[in-house]
Amino acid sequence: MAYLDHAATSPLWAEARDAMLPFLGDSYGNPSGAHAPARVARKAIDEARDIMAEVLGCDPGEVVFTSGGTEADNAAVFGVQRRHGGVVVCSAVEHHAVLDPVLAVDGRLVAVDADGVLDLDALAAALDPSVSLVSVMLANNEVGSIQSLGAVREVVDDRAPGALLHTDAVQGYCWLDVADAATPADLVSVSAHKFGGPKGVGVLVVRRGVTLAPLLLGGGQEQERRSGTQNVAGIVGMATAARLTAEDRKTTIDRVAALRDRLVDGLVSAVEGALESGDRSRKIASTAHLCFEGIDSESLLFLLDRAGIAATAASSCASGAQAPSHVLEAMGISRDLARGSLRLSLGRTTTDADVDAALATIPPAVERLREFG
Ligand code: PLP
Repeated sequence: MAYLDHAATSPLWAEARDAMLPFLGDSYGNPSGAHAPARVARKAIDEARDIMAEVLGCDPGEVVFTSGGTEADNAAVFGVQRRHGGVVVCSAVEHHAVLDPVLAVDGRLVAVDADGVLDLDALAAALDPSVSLVSVMLANNEVGSIQSLGAVREVVDDRAPGALLHTDAVQGYCWLDVADAATPADLVSVSAHKFGGPKGVGVLVVRRGVTLAPLLLGGGQEQERRSGTQNVAGIVGMATAARLTAEDRKTTIDRVAALRDRLVDGLVSAVEGALESGDRSRKIASTAHLCFEGIDSESLLFLLDRAGIAATAASSCASGAQAPSHVLEAMGISRDLARGSLRLSLGRTTTDADVDAALATIPPAVERLREFG
């Protein structure tokens, strides 16, 4: 199997699994308690909090553990809107975990250019002093485009002074130094399973002085910002994965970017009418996104799966069905062309052999579909 779907989820670091095991076994204390087993769990999440703070460039007290990226995004959008009122604004290419909460409170969407990068003039036009939150993702999950949060912050401060800036850094963490890139943001979401941690755990960074209405009320954990007994094993695994990812980031980026470039260049030259979506120099290192004229991606994915290539088209719904991509539409890619889209996302375990397999399989599969399609 050539696994080329790291943006959907990534394999668990062995070290993260090992770090989690005690907390799935004998160390089962509830971190909120006062006795010895509770203190063991409490110490583990305190240490994990310190690590997450370091890799995310914030204070430990600004780390709020969540059940993943979706919860962190919802907590940011609904949390600001319910606490401060006002209008919320996001880019038109956000993941549904931001887009749907923004639409649920009648927020505004801001256009992007043909590379999926936010149009700053459109942002300025969408902002006014009634705006309480602007949410712009650090890196896009479909095409990989990177947003410059410094430039976004300037426009926000100018047009909507007082508005908070949230960034969904879920796809950015492996490929960008979030501690640096997300400095302009007041709220930052990450999700462990995208960087080799376990599923179902993440962080929302809430900078000092930023107040939110919590999504979950109850026992008052996480300084009243997110009630619910913490997922101790998951948090410990996440911190281990986050640390290893940060340590390896530079080497992994160089290696993966070279693999990605070989893959995309190979496909563009082997398949007539193959178009790379967006300018590669404005993307994270991991993402290869192409559209093939005259085919349907669902059929292509079926052939690839049978040949042992795990890939996806746009973002996959929970049902597994391929929804039409709002990201490609926002980038001005026609529906016809978007019908034949393919996302190949690489990661730290991707090898030359995976790229060879994709290069050997995809061109004949596209040809076959065109012939019989
Ligand atoms: N935000 C982005 C950009 C994502 O790619 C994803 C997952 O695909 C999420 C949020 C949701 O994260 P989680 O799967 O941890 O809920």
